Amino acid sequence: MIQKTSTNKLLYALLLGIGSGILLGGLAPEVGVALQFLGDLFLKALLMLVVPLVMASLIVGVTSLGDVRRLGGLGGRTVLYFMSTTALAVLIGLTLVTIIQPGIQPGIQPGVVAHEGAPPGGSAGELQPAPTDLGEQPQTLGQLLRQVLLSLVPQNLFAAMANTEVLPLIVFSLAFGAVLTTIGDRGQIVIRFFQGVNEAVMAIVRLLMWTEPIGVGALVAGRLGQAGGFSGFWPELRGLSAYAATVVVALLIHGAVVLPLTLRFLGGKSVWTYAKNLGTALTTAFSTSSSSATLPMTMDGVTEGNGVSPRTASFVLPLGATINMNGTALYEAVAVIFIAQRYGIELDAGHLFIVFMTATLAAIGAAGIPEAGLVTMVIVLKAVNFPLEGIALILVIDWFLDRCRTTVNVWGDAVGAAVIDRLVGSDNARGTDQGERSARA
Ligand code: ASP
Repeated sequence: MIQKTSTNKLLYALLLGIGSGILLGGLAPEVGVALQFLGDLFLKALLMLVVPLVMASLIVGVTSLGDVRRLGGLGGRTVLYFMSTTALAVLIGLTLVTIIQPGIQPGIQPGVVAHEGAPPGGSAGELQPAPTDLGEQPQTLGQLLRQVLLSLVPQNLFAAMANTEVLPLIVFSLAFGAVLTTIGDRGQIVIRFFQGVNEAVMAIVRLLMWTEPIGVGALVAGRLGQAGGFSGFWPELRGLSAYAATVVVALLIHGAVVLPLTLRFLGGKSVWTYAKNLGTALTTAFSTSSSSATLPMTMDGVTEGNGVSPRTASFVLPLGATINMNGTALYEAVAVIFIAQRYGIELDAGHLFIVFMTATLAAIGAAGIPEAGLVTMVIVLKAVNFPLEGIALILVIDWFLDRCRTTVNVWGDAVGAAVIDRLVGSDNARGTDQGERSARA
């Protein structure tokens, strides 16, 4: 376990790394671009760990539950928590975008498309942004639901591993872990094997952390460099500043007020300590724009630093990295209403309700990779019949907002792990209590 002083040192080093990355990429874009490969190296190392970590930790987690039926309670609560916090995030986004009205600013004419569809910039390395060819993507809720259901079962386990598809790996690992407990001694050998794999992978995660200040700094410098440094980024931001500010303020309200209150009162944790121990995860999320790539860091921060039981974390976090996206849901709601405002569309309560529902579901369907939210936003736009071309309006700034919303996504998963761990823990304690009482009687 990383000691307290080391955690502090690492956090300072990370902030220094990000600060230097911003300055370097902003002032000397070509240097930033040249340094990008260091970031890619870090990103690839993280992605290398995702598959063994998800599989080993889930298999170990399920086998340590004792009774597989407990999984039902854990699963039910997890999904309930995910759905409620996501819905809350969408509400915050909808409220803010309706009050601020970033699409109806003086000097901006409704219906004028400001930016042509530039290709979205993504993080480098193996992790490509979600494809923006809308033809291949689900465009209705029904299609999305079908796609998610089909993607739950891997046709070929190794293909799922090769493509870092977390959802089918979760399903396989749960089933595999559950049956391991039913085959006696032979199962025990396999369980011990995965315990070893799990510990070894976590040990690599902890080693990797010490390279993170350079990795995240280089990723930020590289992306800012690609945008042409500060002089390239400001003009991009200026035209969309009201929209970007609305997304960022809404994310701040959710991330710095709603989630901390949830953590304090439902999770029973000290917010500052919890956040500090997640420093590596949150900065990784910001610099990679990917919840999935951040998973190894989130896992370590939640269990080692913050004392959440690995059993809960191994279930809640991989699932959260794929389906719990508070930041993405909030952003999709703001973006869709912004587009409607720019196109001069009259909004009524029916529109807001449909956006509320579909943004919540579309975020669940978004993968934990860069700019996936931009793609599933099509579903929300289609549901309310707003122009799909509106996406072109916000494309240019999406790489930046993606970083901000991914950070909130990861923070939401981590808070969820604490809340669910406490709920499940008190249940277990109650179970033991009752057991003791009936044994005494
Ligand atoms: N990049 C986000 C994530 O990985 C998803 C998105 O909103 O595009 O959490």
